[in-house]
Amino acid sequence: GATIGILGGGQLGRMIALEGKKMGYRFVTLDPAPDCPGSQTADRHITAAFDDLEAARLLAEEADLITYEFENVDDSVVCALENSANFPQGSHLLRHTRHRIREKKALEAAGVPVAPYRAVYSRADLHEAVQALGFPCLLKTATGGYDGKGQQVFRSQAEVEANLELETGREYVLEQWVPFDKEISVVAARSVYGEVATYPPAWNIHRHQILHQSIVPAPVEETVLERAEALARQVAEQLDVAGLIAVEMFLLQDGTMWVNELAPRPHNSGHYSYDACVTSQFEQHLRALCGLPLGSPRLLTPAVMVNILGEDTGWLFDAMRAFSSNVKVHWYGKEESRPGRKMGHVTVLAPDVNQALDTVKQWKKTAEIGQRG
Ligand code: ATP
Ligand code: MG
Ligand code: MG
Repeated sequence: GATIGILGGGQLGRMIALEGKKMGYRFVTLDPAPDCPGSQTADRHITAAFDDLEAARLLAEEADLITYEFENVDDSVVCALENSANFPQGSHLLRHTRHRIREKKALEAAGVPVAPYRAVYSRADLHEAVQALGFPCLLKTATGGYDGKGQQVFRSQAEVEANLELETGREYVLEQWVPFDKEISVVAARSVYGEVATYPPAWNIHRHQILHQSIVPAPVEETVLERAEALARQVAEQLDVAGLIAVEMFLLQDGTMWVNELAPRPHNSGHYSYDACVTSQFEQHLRALCGLPLGSPRLLTPAVMVNILGEDTGWLFDAMRAFSSNVKVHWYGKEESRPGRKMGHVTVLAPDVNQALDTVKQWKKTAEIGQRG
């Protein structure tokens, strides 16, 4: 089998390797942490920073194909790999998706609707943007943010004045606060031959801006599901994607759908596919990049995916394991547990979504009793 190199060794790299090894591929991961989740499942690990050109070259020498599971790889590394290695995703997608302003502009150019926003490069820009968008609004750093990090909500002019701490040289985007009815997401795959497959939309519930639960099928009208999948396909085709692209969307009460952001890799909200679909997003990513026919993304059973954060481990995890008959447990093998850190996830399978949600409620209750006792 071929050897696949992965830039990044987090849980996404780990799950790509777990799925890929059953298909006969070998894996080499590159990550600064020697004991990262990906390194534990890879055949070989290169401990190096994401701007280490020498290490990237070594990865390219050892691998027949390179992919990434992490967006903040240094530009110089990505460009070097694009020029000298088999790197089907290329640099263009990363360039767009790791900068919110560039991403929104690329979406607009592709005819994909996004929530009202303004680019902010200075205090004057911010004042103008606030005038234009009104309250509440949300300031996000253009780069480097995840799990809601680097975001600030403004409810009034007074809050803007009190929190005006723009870092010089940093770029931001101000967004209107979207009064969404639901957040949904679609993972789309596009192969190097242009074949596209889209996964059933997930309804995503966040806690403190970190994904908590994904519920599939999303409890929305059939036409909404179809529009969401069509939008994801449009993004995959217009942005010339190879591999996976996850499309996060806001669904408003009146049916309006705005894309919030993109991720050009396997996505947390697509983890349900591992246990609930014919083909997991991780296998699909490899199929798309290796030029295999795409697998069926069909949902085999309704599912609820629940993230396990650092604060949930121990009592909550023990409670979940007890419901093993229809609960699939995934553990990422991270040494250190910190609040807010994604340690694992569980996917509850059931004949319908409400039964799966009941199971989740039940084990939360059991966990609370366990914690008190
Ligand atoms: P991640 O990459 O982990 O999904 P992120 O830090 O890149 O997160 P977003 O996805 O943009 O940030 O925001 C995190 C969450 O905050 C969203 O899923 C949504 O719940 C909320 N949010 C973000 N932007 C808006 C907005 N304009 N209006 C209302 N809610 C928002
Ligand atoms: Mg993000
Ligand atoms: Mg997001």
